[in-house]
Amino acid sequence: MVDAFNASPELLARQVSFHSMELPAAPTSDLEWILVEEGFTLAREHDLESLFAIGNGYAGSRGSLSEGSALSAPATFLAGVFDSQPGSLPGLVATADWSRLSAIIDGQPLRLNQGDDLEHRRILDMRQAILWREWRHQDEAGRIMRLRTLRFASLADRHLLVQCVTVTPENFGGRAFIDAALIGPKVEVTASGTTVAMAVAHRVVNHAGRWTPSAELIAGRESLELRLGETCRLDRIVALHTSRDTVNPRETADRHVERAIEDLTRVVDEHRGAWLARWKASDLRIEGDLAAQRALRFAIYHLSSAANPRDDRVSIGARGLSGTAYKGHVFWDTDIFMLPFFIFAYPEAARALVMYRYHTLPAARAKAAGFGYRGAFFAWESADSGEDVTPRFVAAPDGQVIPILTGELEQHITSDVAFGAWNYWQATGDDRFLVEAGTEILIETARFWASRAKREGDGLYHIRGVIGPDEYHETVDDNAYTNGMAQWNLEIATEIANFVAQRWPGPWQALSRRLAIEPEEPRRWQQVARDFYTGFDQRTGLFEQFRGYFGLEEIDLTAFGPRTAPMDVLLGRERIQKSKVIKQPDVVMLIYLLWDRIPPEVRKANFDYYEPRCGHGSSLSPAIHALVAARLGYTAMAERYFRQASEIDLSDNMGSAAGGIHAAALGGLWQAAVLGFAGLQFEGGRPEYHANLPPSWRSLSTRFQWHGQWHEFALPEEAGTGKRRIIHE
Ligand code: BGC
Ligand code: BGC
Repeated sequence: MVDAFNASPELLARQVSFHSMELPAAPTSDLEWILVEEGFTLAREHDLESLFAIGNGYAGSRGSLSEGSALSAPATFLAGVFDSQPGSLPGLVATADWSRLSAIIDGQPLRLNQGDDLEHRRILDMRQAILWREWRHQDEAGRIMRLRTLRFASLADRHLLVQCVTVTPENFGGRAFIDAALIGPKVEVTASGTTVAMAVAHRVVNHAGRWTPSAELIAGRESLELRLGETCRLDRIVALHTSRDTVNPRETADRHVERAIEDLTRVVDEHRGAWLARWKASDLRIEGDLAAQRALRFAIYHLSSAANPRDDRVSIGARGLSGTAYKGHVFWDTDIFMLPFFIFAYPEAARALVMYRYHTLPAARAKAAGFGYRGAFFAWESADSGEDVTPRFVAAPDGQVIPILTGELEQHITSDVAFGAWNYWQATGDDRFLVEAGTEILIETARFWASRAKREGDGLYHIRGVIGPDEYHETVDDNAYTNGMAQWNLEIATEIANFVAQRWPGPWQALSRRLAIEPEEPRRWQQVARDFYTGFDQRTGLFEQFRGYFGLEEIDLTAFGPRTAPMDVLLGRERIQKSKVIKQPDVVMLIYLLWDRIPPEVRKANFDYYEPRCGHGSSLSPAIHALVAARLGYTAMAERYFRQASEIDLSDNMGSAAGGIHAAALGGLWQAAVLGFAGLQFEGGRPEYHANLPPSWRSLSTRFQWHGQWHEFALPEEAGTGKRRIIHE
């Protein structure tokens, strides 16, 4: 695996000589905060575009080269703006390409790999959330041109995208052109009826230091008079508004961009300020392991870039706003893998994410009713309305059409949503959320399970015909994860219903009326929960992943050595279904989520059993293994899984980063560090740490919010450097 982000300190020293007078900011030089891609490897372009994406939860833009390349696939997405072509499912719309910008000298556009690239580097500056680029290019006539660029999606004003470029002719003078045409329409109405307006403004500062607004650029080319050794700069700001956020998007965008271009320095400073505040709240420091430090900052950077606390009608798709994989659809990835980071480090964003689920309850109710169940059955894949948008078929490479059953059968999504909502309330103590939204989610999901589970001859409740988190085995009975989480959902709903009824009787009565809750209903959920079949074997201490799993073919995964293809491809669909090889943690996932309810020896027995049988065919898998291994004290194994998880995007170790960053894996990585290695848990309502740090980590420190209060810790505590305190500010 190549680690492309190993710029030498000497190179960086040079890079920092970036003249800050030229661009309105300067890159961060500290290696712990940046990813530097030196040179240019065309083949990596697709995954780098994902890694270098910028975003602010409203808009996200891939980090494509502005002049384009044979493999460039620029795209800018807006959260919640989905479109569906006839006969296909909704996917995030790629709006007009605002990032296009190229310099033309003597009729020749500057291109990488044409002429000599004397220097070329891109820097993802996570501290300031700015993508930088520096390029010295010599053309065939020997003319040397230096270009420096910055690009960001403002966190202070989420409707703005900014790009600035400086051009310096090092050994020539003369006329050049900048081609900065917008590719695509300025105003677009999607098939779903959303109007998207993009307004663009440019200005040019020439060597005499004079700014001129440049209207021509919108249409096409700007001519520049270049003088030997003197720098010209072009600024471009884009304002985006849609009919989702304003009645007249076009006018709003036009007015917005005019104001912003006048005051570009302020726009830049406020963006940087907003990110500094974000990092103050959420930074996680690791001393002694540069790769882990950068991987965690990369995770925090992309997660924070994907969230928008101001819009609770959108959520975060599996790849955030950084790529087209899964069409921007929202999975359990958000509720189970990403949400904990937001709950603890960005609670306002977490609230918007759980409220998105609340707003999609009507669609979840309709889905439940459609299958003949009560309550709410959430979408396995969800877009804007919450309707299930899981594809029904996929074409295999050999042309065979394979049905996709997840939308119908991966029912655990329903308790995952409930778990996320409950987890949010537990950690924040946001009672208003509980009363106004959370209770309804818990009740409607419990109702679903109470109608879904059937009592059988053994007197126990069973759930037949589902897919658990391990998608290699379809249409299984009594999946331990599904049953265990359904049981939890039923119990918690009972508890919460009683709690809310007692504590807030007025709102409870109103809710009971609205949802027609029968007085004996909560008791019935409790009774179903009590009599649930769990697949637990007292003798061995193991949960059977589903009925019949223990009888399947044993396959030794170590015999498959380092693999270049996932196990379902190596073994084939038929064989993998008849084997014990699993795609991702399933029983282990249950153990992790319900940790406090499961005795220590049972946690260990199940991890020891299932870990060697897991093929990690999903990007969600390694981080959870790292977390559980760390909690169990398997520190070396935990560290190995942590690295594997951190390389999913950074080294593209699953070969799928081109479709966007893996937001769930990034959320999992954060959980592995904080809830795994630091062992943060809440006992009796107080934070406690059970640290098991990898030997090379001299310390791990971060902040988190618990019930509205910021806490800070540095571990290990016994090393003298350790501390924990509540921050009063
Ligand atoms: C995933 C499923 C998903 C399906 C269709 C598969 O790769 O594993 O969870 O529903 O794609 O998007
Ligand atoms: C995983 C699912 C996940 C989906 C989207 C699939 O490969 O098996 O658990 O929700 O990808 O990331």
